Amino acid sequence: MRQIKIIDRSQDERFMREALALASEGATLGEVPVGAVLVQDGEIIGRGFNCPISTHDPSAHAEMVAIRAAALDLRNYRLPGSTLYVTLEPCSMCAGLIVHSRIARVVYGATEPKAGVVVSRGQFFTQEFLNHRVLVEGGLLAQECGAVLSAFFKARRSS
Ligand SMILES: [Zn+2]
Repeated sequence: MRQIKIIDRSQDERFMREALALASEGATLGEVPVGAVLVQDGEIIGRGFNCPISTHDPSAHAEMVAIRAAALDLRNYRLPGSTLYVTLEPCSMCAGLIVHSRIARVVYGATEPKAGVVVSRGQFFTQEFLNHRVLVEGGLLAQECGAVLSAFFKARRSS
């Protein structure tokens, strides 16, 4: 079995800031700002931001975009040993995708009370039927990750 490298917190923060920058990029297109990066061996292998409106694709969540990009690039439908950084707690669709992709670890920022399935609406990753275990950590730069979203919705309400 491949050994999973333990990445220190400063590395985690650096990658979460990359995800935050992607979230902001989405906001400029009028998309709800959520960003994600996928990292393997200390390198970003996939980037994405939430963009279902502009792509006419309901599955175009940040995680989906980043994972698809990495898998295509590496020509591999599985991404073992990788860590996904996402600014918002994943939804059920993305949580399923994370398991199918064999991602080792997920680090998310803000919680998503309405649709998050890590802690908010259930605990997807602890279900017994899953044939792959994912290490999940939440709350990294949660304030910044949430602030990008709040600012977006505030601006949308006032326009
Ligand atoms: Zn999602």
